Order: sequence, then C-alpha cells, then structure tokens
Amino acid sequence: MPPATSRTAGKHSKASAAATSKSRKKGLVKDAAGTAASSGAARKRKQRTASPKTPGRGSKPDVEAILRGLKQAYPAAECALVHHNAWQLLVATILSAQCTDARVNMVTPELFKRHPTIADMAAMPPEALEPEIRSTGFYRNKAKSVTGAARAIMDKFGGKVPETMEDLLTLPGVARKTANVVLGVWFKKAEGVVVDTHVQRVSQRLELTRATQPQKIEQDLMKLLPRQEWILFSHLLIAHGRKLCVARRPKCRECPIEKLCYAPDKTWSSH
Ligand code: SF4
Repeated sequence: MPPATSRTAGKHSKASAAATSKSRKKGLVKDAAGTAASSGAARKRKQRTASPKTPGRGSKPDVEAILRGLKQAYPAAECALVHHNAWQLLVATILSAQCTDARVNMVTPELFKRHPTIADMAAMPPEALEPEIRSTGFYRNKAKSVTGAARAIMDKFGGKVPETMEDLLTLPGVARKTANVVLGVWFKKAEGVVVDTHVQRVSQRLELTRATQPQKIEQDLMKLLPRQEWILFSHLLIAHGRKLCVARRPKCRECPIEKLCYAPDKTWSSH
C-alpha cells in the first residue's frame, strides 16, 4: 500500500481534528449540561436535607431555648416517686411500669412498712408479694422482678443496690429506664436519659428525635443535650407531658415553649 501523501495525511488530520473538535464541543455541551443537571440535583438534595434557616417543621430544634422555657415553667421538677433510699426507688420504678406514679405512691408506703429491708423481700416468694402490689397492674411479673432483684442484690452485691449501669442491668426486671432513674435520681450519676412515655411523646413533638424505640430516642437525646442536663431534662419533659403536653389534645395555648414547637398535632399555634 502506497504511503499516504502529505496531502492525504493532511486531509486525514484535518478531518480528525474537526471530529475531535466536534466531539469535544459535544462533550463540553454534554459536560455542561451534566454539570448543570447534577448541580441542580445537588441543590434540590441540599434543599431537602439542610435545615431550613427559618424555623419550622424540620428545622433544627433550639434545645437551649426549650430547656430554658421548661426550667422556668417547672422549677421544682423532680422524680415523683416517693422513696427514702436506692432500694425503695428501685422497687417504686419497677412498679411504675404501665402505671401512674400516684398509684405507686399509694402502694409503696405500706409495702415498705411490712418489708423494710432488701433481705425481707429477698426471702419472699413472688406469690406472697402479688396481692400487695396488685393495683399497680402486671403484678405477677412485677412481683417476680422485685423479689428476684432483691435476691440478686443479696447474692451478688452484698445487700447494696449497685451503682453502675452495667451491674443494675443484671438485676431481674431492670432495663435502662429503671437503671437511669436509680442512677440519676439517687446516685446523681448521669449515665443516660430516662425515656418514659412522656419523654418519648414530648421529644417527638419537639423534633428532638424521629426514633420510636426508647433506646434510640435515648441515644438521640444524649447526643443533643449537654450531659449535665440529662437528669433534669427527663424530669422537665415528664412534668410538661403530665401538665400540658398530654397525649390527646395537648394544651398548646398554655404551653411556654409553643413558639418552638411545630408538632403536627398541635391544638393551637401562634405561627
Ligand atoms: S406546643 Fe403543644 S404539642 Fe408543642 S410542646 Fe407545647 S403542648 Fe406540646
């Protein structure tokens, strides 16, 4: 095959240069369109995920203002379960599951008068305890938990209520909520945040969490709140949940933090 003349080669190179330039142009157009499309998509994504600057549903909750408002509204917020030592608080907290604190407080004075020490309860068969705590509901399980916890404390912890999360969680009937109550209220140790039904509901309404499982809600709250507020925060939310932010028809018109709340089930709104 004869070698390409410089003219042919020139023709080829001109054609290929034109093609390259054409495809480059196409590429550029394509790139530009692609970039424009992707930056548009990114903008949309950003709009969807970023917290709006103006307050509203989905904006970042103002935790400081919420805490300030609740502290002012409930300056005496504290644990409502009557108790005089760690053991009594542990028992009262176990009994408070699915029951009001007021009801528990009706039962425990007589209970502790009859069985004043941990050893007394450790020696009881659960069936003997059942009638005494019947009115708190779920009394069979609760009787097992209380007597089982008493026995475990006598056997494994020398008759003293343990002071760590790890040890408390080994007691029958004790999960994180109960352990957090005992650690926070009696031992003043902030190991977590108590998540009961009020804390769960109010936290969700205030968009402090989107979780529905107590353990996940607790993790969210622990990330959001300064540690020194963990103990008081639960008392505040429980007080608010009982008084105004009730489950059905919350009393939003009277709520001290109404301006900070964008709950979909608000009954009244200033914004
Ligand atoms: S405004 Fe209503 S829903 Fe929101 S925290 Fe207050 S009482 Fe609860």
